[in-house]
Amino acid sequence: MADEFPFELSPMFEGERIRKDDMYIELAGPKSKGFELVHAAEMDEVEDGGFTLIGSDLSEMKEGETYPLAMIYKIAGEAVEPDLEAIVERRNHDFQNYINGLMHLNQRYDIWLRISKDAIKKGLNSFEPIAKATMMLFKNEMPFIEKMEALYVTDPEEIDRRLIEVKEIYEARDARTRNLHDEDVDIFYGCTLCQSFAPTNVCVVSPDRISLCGAINWFDGRAAAKVDPEGPQFAIEKGECIDPVGGEYTGVNEAAVSLSQGEYSRIKLHSFFDAPHTSCGCFEVVGFYIPELDVIGWVDRDYANPAPNGLTFANMAGQTGGGKQVVGFLGIGINYFRSPKFIQADGGWNRVGWMPKHLKDRVIDDIPVDIVDAVATEEDASDLDSLKAFLIEKNHPIVAKWKETEEKAEKKKEEEKPAVPAMAVPEAVPTAGIPVAGMAMPSGAGGGIRIVLKNAKISIDQVIVKREEE
Ligand code: SF4
Repeated sequence: MADEFPFELSPMFEGERIRKDDMYIELAGPKSKGFELVHAAEMDEVEDGGFTLIGSDLSEMKEGETYPLAMIYKIAGEAVEPDLEAIVERRNHDFQNYINGLMHLNQRYDIWLRISKDAIKKGLNSFEPIAKATMMLFKNEMPFIEKMEALYVTDPEEIDRRLIEVKEIYEARDARTRNLHDEDVDIFYGCTLCQSFAPTNVCVVSPDRISLCGAINWFDGRAAAKVDPEGPQFAIEKGECIDPVGGEYTGVNEAAVSLSQGEYSRIKLHSFFDAPHTSCGCFEVVGFYIPELDVIGWVDRDYANPAPNGLTFANMAGQTGGGKQVVGFLGIGINYFRSPKFIQADGGWNRVGWMPKHLKDRVIDDIPVDIVDAVATEEDASDLDSLKAFLIEKNHPIVAKWKETEEKAEKKKEEEKPAVPAMAVPEAVPTAGIPVAGMAMPSGAGGGIRIVLKNAKISIDQVIVKREEE
């Protein structure tokens, strides 16, 4: 059946990267716009295998250019329900990456695709075979989908028009978990979809922590596990709570050991520094610790400039991804900013010092009112000096912590000061560690002793230099 397509179709192409020099065209991504959406419909509303395109087809696109792209799929079946939309939608990423010569990245309105020159040379000249191959894979792998139809859009105005409504759909999905919390359920959900490129990644989705790709919340995990318990999303018994603040549970730790092939033994869902959640590479936002100021900054894919630490999202994503627990960096889904348990083990919002303005505006209603003005954006600070000045000016909670830390360090210094014996105070004080005649004191062995002053505060009123008497 796959012979009908002008490309090879296999999971072995999943890791395929299409570099700029090998790219024929780019679709959506940071230089353009687009989205992917799955919509559950009634059986009689779906034309099985149907494909419609609004806008230009591949054959009309110029080499080296970037174009917008939206992919909308309608699904129907007896077991199909709206709860399944998000997890079906997330698989578009997998299935399109089975196509040799096509690279699909990210999800929702962050999608970014490239089609290679080789694929075009081999005869790929339309979106239709891409949509048909994708639908074939959906129906093979998710048998509860009985009918499926695709609408692809490359017309920019049509995408703009639809994008408003589509963002509302994503928002509504995310809002469902607002009144449900980790302590209200016994089951969390795991996802291993991204292990194809991040083999030790262990995604744990709880009511208070959406997946880091932002596409799967607790309800989506539940729906997926119900319809396909052997599939990539599955139930995790949360077990005993070890740390209610950090979000550590025995069941999650057991899952971490088995899913990461022993790489990790602990995962804390709401911790930035101690046993943080792994980051695969699909995260919507990356958090970065700024040790000089002891605050955490956040940057998303849409912010191309360097953050105050001098690094861009791309620089930091490279360090954070791969399915590792990287202390100092953390990938999250945007909706996690709205969680009442947002990095609560490390101070929550009181530890946040910087984020891009468009990201801050997006979650502004969920930032506690007493901190909202103290979180800097690129309009307030572009480097560490200006960020420090801003945090001081706004009396960010971290400033009190700096003072506390300084006072503790001073106190420790005082306590460690050695007691200076009264007799050791010389007339003329040497530079610490350098013995001079005035410091030489007789010893039984006749060689004198050397006094080394460490951490001593010395004041000198007068230095007298005398010629030694013959
Ligand atoms: S980021 Fe996590 S939840 Fe999202 S698809 Fe990948 S493994 Fe699944």
